[in-house]
Amino acid sequence: MNDYYAILGISKGASAEEIKLAYRKASRANHPDIVGHSPEAEERFKQINAAYEVLCDPKKREMYDLGVDPLAPGGGATAAGNNPFGGFSASFGGFGDIFEAVFNATAGASAGQAGPASRAARGRDQLERLTVELKDSVFGAVKEVSYSTYLRCGACDGTCCAPGTAPVVCSSCQGRGVRERLVRSLLGTMRTLDPCRQCQGFGNIIANPCPECSGQGRVRGHSTIQIDVPVGVDSGNRLRLTGKGEAGPAGGPAADLYIEFKVKRHPDFVRDGDNLVATLPIPMTAAALGASIVIETLDGEREVGIRPGSQPGTVITLEGLGAGRLNQRTRGDLLVHLDVQVPTELDDSQRELLRRLALERREERPEAHFASTGGMFARLKDKLAGK
Ligand SMILES: [Zn+2]
Ligand SMILES: [Zn+2]
Repeated sequence: MNDYYAILGISKGASAEEIKLAYRKASRANHPDIVGHSPEAEERFKQINAAYEVLCDPKKREMYDLGVDPLAPGGGATAAGNNPFGGFSASFGGFGDIFEAVFNATAGASAGQAGPASRAARGRDQLERLTVELKDSVFGAVKEVSYSTYLRCGACDGTCCAPGTAPVVCSSCQGRGVRERLVRSLLGTMRTLDPCRQCQGFGNIIANPCPECSGQGRVRGHSTIQIDVPVGVDSGNRLRLTGKGEAGPAGGPAADLYIEFKVKRHPDFVRDGDNLVATLPIPMTAAALGASIVIETLDGEREVGIRPGSQPGTVITLEGLGAGRLNQRTRGDLLVHLDVQVPTELDDSQRELLRRLALERREERPEAHFASTGGMFARLKDKLAGK
């Protein structure tokens, strides 16, 4: 009697998984296409197949362990061995069958491919846009968003079947979802599994589709959701809401909803990182004499002190009145750029006053020089020069 355990190089207590692995290894290592065609090689290959055929079948293995070789009466195996080609195809036939068994077992174990496919699938993620005011981004807000999406069908609760009916087992594949197909290849005849055409691989057929959803298990509809606008949110930021996207077909899980924010342009303030930037026009006289000006910030009215002799482009920093920061309690600053306004229209007495001022300051014939340092234009030059 052949020692099938020794042929596969495994112990008597080997598990089904170990037997499978050993067989795969041995059959590949001893395949006549690989090691060369010789009577010895073919005999060896045949023995490996015989060993697997016996040991992979619990009943045959039990017989064998009791001392009876289930393949022993075997005229077939020995007879085929007489003719190298005949023997070869014979072993190929067996090889294919067993190979297929191994593949199916492995595929089934790893991917769950053995059974019919499920109609249920996860829905698709969805993106909605939400425009908010700058104020909402600075202080946070609660907004309502209405959007069109797929909802689970209420009539059939995602089962796809008309009320009181159930899916019918597919007669073509007996509910397995797959049909066997024989494929000839270099390694011999292999059985592959194709999805059943009649049931599209689902193993059953919905004979009475739910009229509400036409058997899809979901319908188009509207959802409304409350959104907490995060403090500090900026245009382009996205928020993910798990399970608020499209419901999946046939009762499959809902996908995620993404909210993309757009912060509306504010007439006075522009965001620059954590800060807000504003331009404040002030009269020339206020810049020269100094002044106290009340401005309207996002936080309400604030008094801004203009120092005497303030230059155009002077920046006044109002700490903590800027934009919010995501996931932080602190805020940036409000940067107020002074825009000194030179009067464009003067009446006679104003012109006279200014002329007297110019005389007083000996500026009636000003001697002008290009400024190398200081002043707004020098700063501008530095900026353009990349300093
Ligand atoms: Zn339905
Ligand atoms: Zn079918």
